[in-house]
Amino acid sequence: MQVATPTRPKETKPSTEKQAVRPQMDFNRITDEQFLIAAEEMKLESEIQLLLRTPYREMIVQIPVRLDDGRLEMFHGYRVQHNAVRGPYKGGIRYHYKVDLNEVRSLAALMTWKTAIVDVPFGGAKGGVSCDPSAMSRAELQALTRGFTRKIDMALGVYRDIPAPDVGTNAQVMAWIMDEYGKKNGYTPAIVTGKPLNLGGSLGRDAATGRGVSIIAREACQCFDIDIKRAKVAIQGFGNVGSWTGRLMARLGAKVVAVSDVNGGIFNEVGLDMERVVAHCQATGTVAGFKGAKSIDNEELLTLDVDILIPAALGGAITRDNAESIKARLIVEGANSPVTPRADEVLSRRGTTVVPDILANAGGVTVSYFEWVQNLQQFRWSADRVNEELERKMVAAWRAVYNRTIDQHTPLRISAYMEALDKVAEATRQRF
Ligand code: GLU
Repeated sequence: MQVATPTRPKETKPSTEKQAVRPQMDFNRITDEQFLIAAEEMKLESEIQLLLRTPYREMIVQIPVRLDDGRLEMFHGYRVQHNAVRGPYKGGIRYHYKVDLNEVRSLAALMTWKTAIVDVPFGGAKGGVSCDPSAMSRAELQALTRGFTRKIDMALGVYRDIPAPDVGTNAQVMAWIMDEYGKKNGYTPAIVTGKPLNLGGSLGRDAATGRGVSIIAREACQCFDIDIKRAKVAIQGFGNVGSWTGRLMARLGAKVVAVSDVNGGIFNEVGLDMERVVAHCQATGTVAGFKGAKSIDNEELLTLDVDILIPAALGGAITRDNAESIKARLIVEGANSPVTPRADEVLSRRGTTVVPDILANAGGVTVSYFEWVQNLQQFRWSADRVNEELERKMVAAWRAVYNRTIDQHTPLRISAYMEALDKVAEATRQRF
């Protein structure tokens, strides 16, 4: 899968050249703009706006790692704790060469809104390390993870800040964090979520984000008169979120006609067999080269004539430059910030509905909450219980957001922000 697999070392070492040639988008400006539109729409007091816009704490740490070839490399890591009025800080850790403070800051704020929308008692945080996990060996990734954990562990805690996986990290990385934290603090499984099952992870956590995306897509189809059983779906990104979304959309009866990853995409008009695509991807590390499908590139995938488009890779995939060419009626954001505000404007003018990230991909943190609860209870829930509770939370969140859109004629993104801001603002007023 596209998600970094620390067990598969490659020849190349992390290089800073990649960072230089590909400029990073100003994600914080994007999410701040979205926040302000919603805050103004709901006439949120300016003091509350100031409190909710400002991250509580931002850490920048340097992590020296001895690479396998003997060189010492210095990595830059970040943890931004955005807001904790509703509960402990919560959010993933991203390993990607484009990670910087601006992006982590933006992702941390998104977590605050996500946890509020699905009504789990957490705040929002995010972490990241600028590195290329696909080019690092397992030993290097382990050293990096343990080093990062040591640098930020004074700000973590079961009731303070609880990391989880994100792009480029996985259950193995969470196991190392738990182990490193445990050296100082004793056995503390609730310090991270998204752990391996064997170490206190939750059944259903691996599929949770994709399951949430598929539940929200199903609800949106009902409300916008799309027959999911006849719907053609294209998914950009085939990591944890994209692959699970594809499988679960197929189980709902939708026809997944195209998927892609960093190496390219595949297309088959009659629908791809998702289980076989996943098996191919597990065997070869990419969806590219799947037999019985035409190869396409990522840009072509976005503009295919489908009913539902699910961007599930990185931020900034749909911009003002390609929004005009998008033919899908419904876009469900599996990734964080895949659609820029200018693209939102174009899509809205063209009648395309966009279901925002903070609603669509909140299934991951919802099951993270269930995992944390199970760790505190020291009692494992069944997969059925996890999935039923997830279903309930996602459907309730969809209804709350959709009803605002019906009542106030706001786009779903702004309705979702308003739903979140209402809850976080109320908790802020009660504490102050
Ligand atoms: N990284 C995921 C997200 O962006 C999950 C966070 C979590 O489970 O804490 O929502």
